[in-house]
Amino acid sequence: MAATSFGEAGADLELVGIRKEFPGFTAIEELDLTIPAGSFFALLGPSGCGKTTTLRLVAGLEDPSAGRILIGGADVTAVKPHKRPVNTVFQSYALFPHMTVLENVAFGLRRRRVSDALAKAHEALRLVELDHVAERKPSQLSGGQQQRVALARAVVNRPALLLLDEPLGALDLKLRRQMQLELKSIQAEVGLTFLHVTHDQEEAMTMADTVAVMNKGRIEQLGSPTELYELPRTGFVAGFLGQSNLITGDVESTAGGIVTVRTAGGVLAVPASRAVSTGGRITLGVRPEKLLLHATAPAADADQNVLGPGRITDVSFTGVSTQYLVEVPGVGTVTVFAQNLVFGAVYPVGVEVWVAWHREHTFGLDSDAR
Ligand code: ATP
Repeated sequence: MAATSFGEAGADLELVGIRKEFPGFTAIEELDLTIPAGSFFALLGPSGCGKTTTLRLVAGLEDPSAGRILIGGADVTAVKPHKRPVNTVFQSYALFPHMTVLENVAFGLRRRRVSDALAKAHEALRLVELDHVAERKPSQLSGGQQQRVALARAVVNRPALLLLDEPLGALDLKLRRQMQLELKSIQAEVGLTFLHVTHDQEEAMTMADTVAVMNKGRIEQLGSPTELYELPRTGFVAGFLGQSNLITGDVESTAGGIVTVRTAGGVLAVPASRAVSTGGRITLGVRPEKLLLHATAPAADADQNVLGPGRITDVSFTGVSTQYLVEVPGVGTVTVFAQNLVFGAVYPVGVEVWVAWHREHTFGLDSDAR
């Protein structure tokens, strides 16, 4: 990435007791959120969960029904949108077609009679590595390049906070993956606070330092991508951030920091620190890539969970891994992603297998999590 003088830190954002009601519909139930200055924060959730409404509240395009919004410690709840230190990048780039790329980026600065508007616009274009097309019209650029121009236009006046509303949604998959990495590196370089809204879990996990998973107008869980993936606290979060196997059983004992659970496929264990609850009926979860298949029952091992025997009902080669579906009586279908370490080394359909994993990879949810 080209060297620039974008180095000023962004501001932190605080949402305090935010509620948003539309006529006949509550879009945000209650939202309390602090986003530290200079972080890349993603709001992740399914369509209709309230992500865009949250962004619009921060931008000042909607008024909250209750609560306060603070940017850099200043209460902006009653401040008009154009007076807030915020810029937004939308999925549709909305570049002016009759202006050059440079004029598009300089537009806002010129209107506000900022000195050195063109020099600053060139600098922002260098940041997104498009200075060489400064004199072209937007129609002469690819979709990815147009989105980078929109980004340059949004960062050129160094807003304390940049809001990104599904900004890569219109790009094809390959370009989107590439732009995710570019956006992440641009954010690291400019040091502004980025609040990114997406329904794409891979996108949120690739780019953000912190992800808040939203469901039905509330945040279900907030954490680093690794925390959310490795230790989801609800069935919704477990399911939204990739595949997981959920197995319900009854707690037999809790001793030495280990919860022992009787399931239809065998007695399993989960560290108490990785369980939401430690009594009654609970649901255990484990990600498919943590599982290993065995042709015979593995020897007893205190660190290992073993489920089985089961029978392989489907084998799919996916390139990166081989996906096995294993039917375990009383438990249901268990999905296993096996690394393709040895060419052609596969278990065929119909074979009896045991599924094993290190118990540290287990997470424990409430019984109603399924
Ligand atoms: P998407 O990913 O589809 O954009 P989202 O998570 O961004 O979804 P929002 O656009 O925030 O969801 O909408 C949240 C809910 O609020 C939706 O059920 C939507 O229908 C509703 N909603 C949004 N704006 C209004 C409005 N102006 N009047 C009434 N209901 C609205």
